[in-house]
Amino acid sequence: MAGEPQADCLFCKIVAGSVPATVVRETETTVAFRDINPQAPTHVLVIPKLHYPDAASLAAAEPAVVADILREAGRIAADEKIDDHGYRVVFNTGAGAGQTVFHAHLHVLGGRGLQWPPG
Ligand code: IMP
Repeated sequence: MAGEPQADCLFCKIVAGSVPATVVRETETTVAFRDINPQAPTHVLVIPKLHYPDAASLAAAEPAVVADILREAGRIAADEKIDDHGYRVVFNTGAGAGQTVFHAHLHVLGGRGLQWPPG
């Protein structure tokens, strides 16, 4: 069923607690944890507890959860004190855009100068 945990999904395992992660925030609908290969001094992933492969499919099925994810990003930016200088939020969507884990996740990046356009 849509949104159900997938046995072969790494991020579903993090939600379930069977794969360890450095969790920084958790809500009823989301979990946020530090990226294992950080690309900035702050690099946190915010994911829905429900399994959807990407942001677009999550938005189509559960738009309120997308709002929850973005609200959490703002709270993380404040907690990490990266909101004064500026930070970036990114949903890589599709392999061609660099998505490697097919459970929707928002990257929250900050703590250094960020170039535009991204590579
Ligand atoms: P994507 O490339 O946009 O799909 O982002 C996936 C992110 O997940 C990458 O930045 C990885 O470094 C990160 N990642 C992969 N495995 C783990 C893990 O076990 N814990 C935390 N982050 C992970």
